[in-house]
Amino acid sequence: MDEREDRVNILLVDDQPENLVALEAVLGGLGERLVAARSGRDALRRLLEDDFAVILLDVQMPEMDGFETAALIRQRDRSKNTPIIFVTAYSRGEADVARGYSVGAVDYIFKPLVPEILRSKVAVFADLFRKTMQVQRLAESLKQRTLELESANKDLESFSYSVSHDLRAPLRAICGFAEIVARRHRESLDQEGRHYMDNILEAGARMGQLIDDLLAYSRLGRTALRHQQVPLRPLLERVIDSMALRVAETGAEVDLPEDLPAVPGDTGLLERVLGNLIQNALAYRRPDVPLRVGVSCEAEPDHFLIRVRDNGIGIAPEHHERIFQVFQRLHGDDHPGSGIGLAIVRKSVRLMGGEVWVESAEGEGSTFCVRLPRSGCIPRLDVGRGRGGGG
Ligand code: ADP
Repeated sequence: MDEREDRVNILLVDDQPENLVALEAVLGGLGERLVAARSGRDALRRLLEDDFAVILLDVQMPEMDGFETAALIRQRDRSKNTPIIFVTAYSRGEADVARGYSVGAVDYIFKPLVPEILRSKVAVFADLFRKTMQVQRLAESLKQRTLELESANKDLESFSYSVSHDLRAPLRAICGFAEIVARRHRESLDQEGRHYMDNILEAGARMGQLIDDLLAYSRLGRTALRHQQVPLRPLLERVIDSMALRVAETGAEVDLPEDLPAVPGDTGLLERVLGNLIQNALAYRRPDVPLRVGVSCEAEPDHFLIRVRDNGIGIAPEHHERIFQVFQRLHGDDHPGSGIGLAIVRKSVRLMGGEVWVESAEGEGSTFCVRLPRSGCIPRLDVGRGRGGGG
């Protein structure tokens, strides 16, 4: 018999040995593993030992007939989905076809058997089983991989958390002593010394900011979120109030519509997201163009789309993804910042089940789009990375 490597099991159930031989003769060429059973009980025993792609079940058998056997097969977890093809010598009219389907038959085959038809029907189920097995194996290894990634992600997060946390104390000492020197001993330093001291203080402050941002980033998702309907207008007013100085300095005109809806999310996270986006809109402006910043929100059937737009320097398309990664900055030299802001934005939005992206071209302003699902699901961080919409 021509056997294949990935062969599957096929169960043949008939009380007549000559019928089994006939089935084996027809199906032998498929190269699958044929298992014969001489009774319903025998079949049930075999089904305990192995998984089968399909069962060919004789209807007329003494003791337990095909229907009773099928009902018992369906009751067991291991075989409850195994396809059953009834084989019967009755003519179509006489056979209790409906009863067969009600106990889970997928097909009926009437004797005399037509070898080609039987073979091709069984081959379909054998292939289906093989494919199902492949998919199952794939799903299993994906699950395993996801678990590994989740655990690696957790390790990394707690690592960056403890590193940033531990860096704080020595940095505080450095900055503290540098401040004392700069204050109490300023007179004993010459101009060069003072200049160096100021540099130390400035770099220390930047590093402090960096550490704080990193800590904020790795803390995200550690505390439980409170999912609420958050009215956008008062939240945005608070955010903009807290930046009143920057707004005044930049002379920005901020456009906030009156009728902004309430959106599903966590107030703290939303405040941080919109705060970061508006802060960036104020920072990355074109010096020769009066700055205009606007926020809008569209209510769609299954989500809300918040847009924060500016008429600033814009971002070339090749950087649209990169800027959401930690430490990725395009305009580092002339703007203070740690390059963590947009990473915090993306992580926060994903924690709320949403997605964020930018639409922009260099020199033409930027629009940051935040899509929040109405269902307000809070998925785990490491799943559901697809953006699934928008530019
Ligand atoms: P940071 O602002 O601290 O550098 P972010 O993660 O907030 O870090 O932003 C990353 C980079 O994306 C910025 O350095 C800047 O180059 C670019 N960027 C962010 N927002 C804007 C914007 N509104 N317009 C133009 N460029 C922007």
